Amino acid sequence: MNQDTICALATAHGVGAIGIIRVSGNEAFTIVNRIFQGKDLKKVKSHTVHYGFIVENNEVKPTTTTPQPSTTNQEVIDEVMVSVFHAPKTFTTENSVEIAFHGSPYIGQKILETLIKNGARMAKAGEFTMRAFMNGRIDLSQAESIADLIASENEASRKVALNQLKGGITQEISILRGDLLNFTSLVELELDFAEEDVEFADRSAMVRLIQNLKIKLGSLLDSFQYGNAIKNGTAVAIIGKPNAGKSTLLNTLLKEERAIVSNIAGTTRDTIEEILHIKGHAFRLIDTAGLRDTADEIEAIGVQKAKEKVEHAEVLVYLADATQTDFSEDFDMLKSLIRPNLKLIICLTQTDRTENQNFAKVQEIFQVEIEQPFTFIPISAVENRNIQQLKDELSAYVESLKSEGSNVVITNQRHYEALQRSLESVEKVEEAISSQITTELLAYELRNALENLGEISGEFTNDEVLGNIFSKFCIGK
Ligand code: GDP
Repeated sequence: MNQDTICALATAHGVGAIGIIRVSGNEAFTIVNRIFQGKDLKKVKSHTVHYGFIVENNEVKPTTTTPQPSTTNQEVIDEVMVSVFHAPKTFTTENSVEIAFHGSPYIGQKILETLIKNGARMAKAGEFTMRAFMNGRIDLSQAESIADLIASENEASRKVALNQLKGGITQEISILRGDLLNFTSLVELELDFAEEDVEFADRSAMVRLIQNLKIKLGSLLDSFQYGNAIKNGTAVAIIGKPNAGKSTLLNTLLKEERAIVSNIAGTTRDTIEEILHIKGHAFRLIDTAGLRDTADEIEAIGVQKAKEKVEHAEVLVYLADATQTDFSEDFDMLKSLIRPNLKLIICLTQTDRTENQNFAKVQEIFQVEIEQPFTFIPISAVENRNIQQLKDELSAYVESLKSEGSNVVITNQRHYEALQRSLESVEKVEEAISSQITTELLAYELRNALENLGEISGEFTNDEVLGNIFSKFCIGK
């Protein structure tokens, strides 16, 4: 493919021990040769590393095998190691060079400028990965998984991204899509023989395939909730009346004094979000202003915010102060916040401060009032009592989201939407078969389903979608 040769900084911006500039394209060796004093890169083997100097204007190639800085008017920019990769066994499948220089942003900039002067151009965001996709080395879902891998911040998201990079989702779908494609060809063949009223495609086998597809798509769609928890973390709202112990619990969980702890009711006015990692999963803990009926306007905004946070949370950890004798305000608050599918954990807090240690009794009172199932945990943040149990409960919740049918987990909104469209179109095919609709319409529905399934791997995508995906990458990737 005759494309520009592109270059970009591949390492993070800022000072580092080394920085790496990546160059890819037909002219990669020619261009780097112009500014490299060392071996002739066109003559070295693939996947080898070479010592030398980057110079601003390198017209004369040295003849010795041990390079020396030039004594002519060529300005040496840096002493470097250059790695050479021959097409097609490279990330982009094109000729590629990586220049490892002393990690100063200034040197990096200067080398890039020199490369550009000598014929390369600056890569756009994600352009290296886009080339890998365009040149057929990876499919679209794998390209996206590279972005996810770079962004992964915990063990679970790293594993899922890596599985996707290995072709996880695409493999699962492409087998089924291949079968569907066979049927579609047969149905289209029937169209050619329309007058003869023949049926090449066995309708009952097609129905079986559709059933299979529906099950597979359904389980992939189900995995999105878990995938989302992995990628974005699980939102956990921590709610309770003022002085219930929200900030203290948050601090204990995070073992850092970030939230403001105070015994003046309603001082934690703004919401605070912190990330907690438990067993490789991320939880976004949302602390909220104390909930109570109040005329104080700022406080009222806090209450509203709390309700909004619970709306967006998957888990509600409700804190009720164990030293109280009357929990009616907690009941009212809980009733206004809970909804089906919200995982509810009720923590009885400050249990070190109360005479009455019969927590089972308190649990019973809550059970009478609150109709939704919940986990009840008596805790003391100060004495670290049952804090581990609370963490285990959070971690068990995320584990419970794992779908059983498939090892592949959907983490990407675009895939989720394409899968939904696929399921809808597969259902339409099913309808078309059962209602004995015309072959033309059946063929149309089948094509639609194929397109939707093909969107995930990038077999069917428009430039706008591609542009959107790759623009989210960093430059140099
Ligand atoms: P918030 O308003 O819900 O955020 O409550 P805070 O976390 O600010 O706690 C209110 C008061 O209760 C503070 O004085 C805390 O030190 C105290 N407190 C919170 N949790 C515990 C606990 O588990 N044991 C004891 N003894 N005191 C606690």
